[in-house]
Amino acid sequence: MQTHQYDVVIVGAGGAGMRAALESSDRARTAVISKLYPTRSHTGAAQGGMCAALANVEEDNWEWHTFDTVKGGDYLVDQDAAEVMAKEAIDAVLDLEKMGLPFNRTPEGRIDQRRFGGHTRNHGEAAVRRSCYAADRTGHMILQTLYQQCVKNDVEFFNEFYVLDILLSHDLVGGAVSDGDDVAVSGVVAYELATGEIHLFRAKSVVLATGGAGKIYKTTSNAHTLTGDGMALAYRRGIPLEDMEFFQFHPTGLAGLGILLSEAARGEGGILRNGEGERFMERYAPTIKDLAPRDIVARSMANEVREGRGAGPNKDYVLLDLTHLEPAHIDAKLPDITEFARTYLGIEPYTEPVPVYPTAHYAMGGVPTNIETAVLRNNTDFVRGLFAAGEVACVSVHGSNRLGTNSLLDINVFGKRAGLAAAAYAATADWVDVPEDPETGVVAELEEMRARAVGDRVADVRRDLQQTMDANAQVFRTEESLIQALKDVRELQARYRNVSVQDKGRAYNTDLLEALELGFLLDIAEVVVVGALNRQESRGGHFREDFPARDDAAYMQHTMAYRRPPGTAAPSSPVSSDAAAAVAATTRSGDLTPGGPGSSAPGTYDVALGYKPVVVTRYQPMERKY
Ligand SMILES: Cc1cc2nc3c(=O)[nH]c(=O)nc-3n(C[C@H](O)[C@H](O)[C@H](O)COP(=O)(O)OP(=O)(O)OC[C@H]3O[C@@H](n4cnc5c(N)ncnc54)[C@H](O)[C@@H]3O)c2cc1C
Repeated sequence: MQTHQYDVVIVGAGGAGMRAALESSDRARTAVISKLYPTRSHTGAAQGGMCAALANVEEDNWEWHTFDTVKGGDYLVDQDAAEVMAKEAIDAVLDLEKMGLPFNRTPEGRIDQRRFGGHTRNHGEAAVRRSCYAADRTGHMILQTLYQQCVKNDVEFFNEFYVLDILLSHDLVGGAVSDGDDVAVSGVVAYELATGEIHLFRAKSVVLATGGAGKIYKTTSNAHTLTGDGMALAYRRGIPLEDMEFFQFHPTGLAGLGILLSEAARGEGGILRNGEGERFMERYAPTIKDLAPRDIVARSMANEVREGRGAGPNKDYVLLDLTHLEPAHIDAKLPDITEFARTYLGIEPYTEPVPVYPTAHYAMGGVPTNIETAVLRNNTDFVRGLFAAGEVACVSVHGSNRLGTNSLLDINVFGKRAGLAAAAYAATADWVDVPEDPETGVVAELEEMRARAVGDRVADVRRDLQQTMDANAQVFRTEESLIQALKDVRELQARYRNVSVQDKGRAYNTDLLEALELGFLLDIAEVVVVGALNRQESRGGHFREDFPARDDAAYMQHTMAYRRPPGTAAPSSPVSSDAAAAVAATTRSGDLTPGGPGSSAPGTYDVALGYKPVVVTRYQPMERKY
């Protein structure tokens, strides 16, 4: 085992990780650890844009942006965080411009802006042009720009290193320190892909910037690598996950494939039509129509299909119509995504509408943080030295439904904040001892999988997981479907304990690491489903057919999900007393064996739920109409 020592270790080299690295490497000895080569991170796949109330093309201000974010998130947004993000958005865009990002320009030479779902003028009057963009390759440009700056600033990268564990000074159970009164981070354990060697990184500050978990679903816009690693690692160490039941389904995935066609297509004038050619969004959102927030558009599409108005031979998708746009306009503003339609579906978007259907896209939930990106271990206390930013984190600016272009913004604003906070903490903190044998648990697990001669195949278990999540925990959910999903996930967890890998070697053993990632996916799927089962209301991305209304009295609260080791009591303090009721609610339907919540099947872990209040500053919850 090799040992390294840095003041700050950043896990993840996507937009959030590299934005953090730019700040922290100026101020503290910093290493960035990434399982991918940095420019392969999913940020590079982002298409449509990054919003800020620059008011370059029409009147706008950050207060309208804050309001839209809060309303878009169906009032589960922490309003102090949304305000920070909307205010700092303007500098975040200008910072990128100064770094050299080639934004599209207006004829006068200003950064151009386009429309995106849910972004409005004056609290919902009409759609506003708030999204800054570089054609439909905005994320690619952000990632390349940040990487160039990191190279210029001599940031140290450990590429193709997989972080396997976060090291803490004390054990956490249900958010409480089980063997002391305080807990601090002391580093991370990582696996070097090229050699199979284990590395220990000691650090005063650790920043989690590991991105999302879209691979719990089969139909998804997310890259193969988005397996929720950072979320699962934190969760396994006793840190709660916040609001995981809220997963965003983006309306316009290529039908049957899930590959994304950016909302920019509608921002530039694209229209959704059902099989009868009707512009159906006029019925669901009369004011902003096709530019309603994603949860509403995705549900409306699914509803058209369910009611028999879908398009195609099986009436199982709707159509994205760009045929009224000038080909030159399409080529200038939407070159990549129209090429996707040609390549993957053989459709010519100039002349034919494109078949689309909702695709799993974005995790609104994640590792809970405050607005300085410090990681919470319960409603009030922190893990000293641990920070999180980007899709892995839940700060919570997106509440129960993220607005388009708010994530590229989130990673820049909170990535920067994380870099500053991590460096500031490291400047005064003492080193924390690492455990005597830091590699025992994870490494043993890896070796066991490598050594197992026969067993279930990783790809089979993953496929079954993705299928049940698509079938049972997607746009529409019911108690029955979620119980089915939970049963399936439990069974798959049992099968997972028996998986084996074909490649037994050390060098570039991606087989082994995919097995590990499957374990993360199973943990995350379980938390998503238990949270969804418990939340008996519909809000944002979470729609319960059996509870179709939003219920602010009971559920205008963040869910905090804790991993509860077998045989231990539900966390008492400071998880609210509702936690017990919440957990009971998930067992209410009786038999969820094997290993349902509250059951004590050997070796399985329960999910214990608590609540955290939503921060409300200026906007009282209202009915959401568009
Ligand atoms: C197709 C697509 C289009 C999108 N378009 C837009 C858009 O137009 N506008 C918008 O605002 N948002 C968009 N989004 C969402 C947005 O791109 C993402 O939410 C955001 O880029 C996530 O950035 P991140 O830095 O948090 O994570 P990522 O960019 O996903 O980076 C994660 C990093 O973590 C590393 N990592 C993960 N696990 C480990 C581990 N175990 N050990 C070491 N390293 C690890 C990876 O190597 C990677 O470097 C889009 C998303 C997709 C999928």
